[in-house]
Amino acid sequence: MTRGLVIASCLSILVACTSETPPYQRTIYTFGTLASISIYDVPRETAIEAADDIELALARLNRDWYAWGDGELGELNRTLATTTSARVSNDLGTLIREALRLSDASEGLFNPTVGSLVELWGFHEAGDDTGARPSATAIEARQQLISIALDGQGETMEITASASGAVIDLGGIAKGAALSLCRDLLAKHSVKRALVDLGGDLIALTPNDAEPFDIGVRDPRGEGAVAVIRAGAGEAVVTSGDYERFFNEDSERYHHIIDPATGYPSEAAASVTVISRDPVRADAAATAMMVGGVAQFEALAAALDIELATLMTVDGTIIHTDGMAERIDWLGDRRSTP
Ligand code: ADP
Ligand code: MG
Repeated sequence: MTRGLVIASCLSILVACTSETPPYQRTIYTFGTLASISIYDVPRETAIEAADDIELALARLNRDWYAWGDGELGELNRTLATTTSARVSNDLGTLIREALRLSDASEGLFNPTVGSLVELWGFHEAGDDTGARPSATAIEARQQLISIALDGQGETMEITASASGAVIDLGGIAKGAALSLCRDLLAKHSVKRALVDLGGDLIALTPNDAEPFDIGVRDPRGEGAVAVIRAGAGEAVVTSGDYERFFNEDSERYHHIIDPATGYPSEAAASVTVISRDPVRADAAATAMMVGGVAQFEALAAALDIELATLMTVDGTIIHTDGMAERIDWLGDRRSTP
């Protein structure tokens, strides 16, 4: 990476770094996307050890938290397909509990039991976006969202579903949770300045009084950046967009973020970017705000305790929270609506 804003062609977000010494860098494929790890200002061996730890952890999380894979969440969903209760490990149970809390706080706009609809629309498989619009009857049938509850603590957590057939999908917060773990692993190796970018969701680590990173916000309908955001000191910058995974049918775009209330992909926003020191909350908030759109933007920010967020609609309207004004510079003729 060079000085100034550069376009990382393989990643969905643009990143600038201003540190004098070039970082140790590694690109990996994980969570269905290209991810990059950049580690600054430590001996190369330390950076390699930290990147090895991160790579290993991401591979494990990617397996364990993917709703349709052969890891723990996939296994749990296969059990719930035919029964209404199942045991769950402490790690996965803790994340599901947090997902349920965020679902309540967002009044169900973020909802981890949306999995059966995601599956019906064909957005559960990474790769080609070859989905097709399901019939209204099929959507309605799956829309009877099965509610789940989580009881117990530690190694004795148990999920109970209101009926069999629940599909728990943590796709809306898994990257946030992974970023949180990346930050812990970097701290373990005493790394003070680093950037981990999971294809548009990233964690920016800088020493407290050091310069933040400049992070480009992708144009939801183009290749370049529409804005530059400053973030650092362990903040996560998380973006959800209708361009991440979608298919077109009859000139309509159908994308991977589903409004649980209608069973259809949300149309209320083209992209949402959230900055927070809590990567899981940021991730859930970005997904919920995609569903809630302009109408529920402020209420969701308050309910989820998010101070820094911006939302772009399909027709080009841009709004943001008060605090975001100091963090974001719009490029070209873009600017937010007062
Ligand atoms: P990405 O992971 O693509 O950056 P998100 O964080 O917004 O974007 O997560 C989108 C994923 O979350 C979808 O692929 C799907 O698995 C899941 N999802 C879709 N709609 C919802 C929803 N309303 N609430 C919770 N999760 C959702
Ligand atoms: Mg999300």
